[in-house]
Amino acid sequence: MKLGIIRCMQTEDYCSGSGCFKAIAKKEGAFEDIKDEIKIYGFANCGGCPGKKVVLRVREMVKRGVDTVAFASCVQKGTPIGYPCPFAKRMKDLILNDLGEEITFLDYTHY
Ligand code: SF4
Repeated sequence: MKLGIIRCMQTEDYCSGSGCFKAIAKKEGAFEDIKDEIKIYGFANCGGCPGKKVVLRVREMVKRGVDTVAFASCVQKGTPIGYPCPFAKRMKDLILNDLGEEITFLDYTHY
């Protein structure tokens, strides 16, 4: 798996990403059934509200070899403060409409 992670720019202010990296290293959360080696090819934020830049960022990831895109748990779960992104569905739809045939999409990273 060549993984690109998109995370919330608001959450980036106080999150090191350690929950995502730990889940990948231990194959927990969204990665628990992944048998292949997981290589991190990209780790970027959404570009900020309302998330219009996200599809452009994912396109660049795919150009560079990403085959799986995950929203970090801060996006749809609202981790760690329980505040999910109000634009998450729009962002996901944009990504899947544009690149859905080229990527596997994961809705979160860690529990
Ligand atoms: S669009 Fe969503 S994921 Fe991006 S900064 Fe705003 S709240 Fe966070």
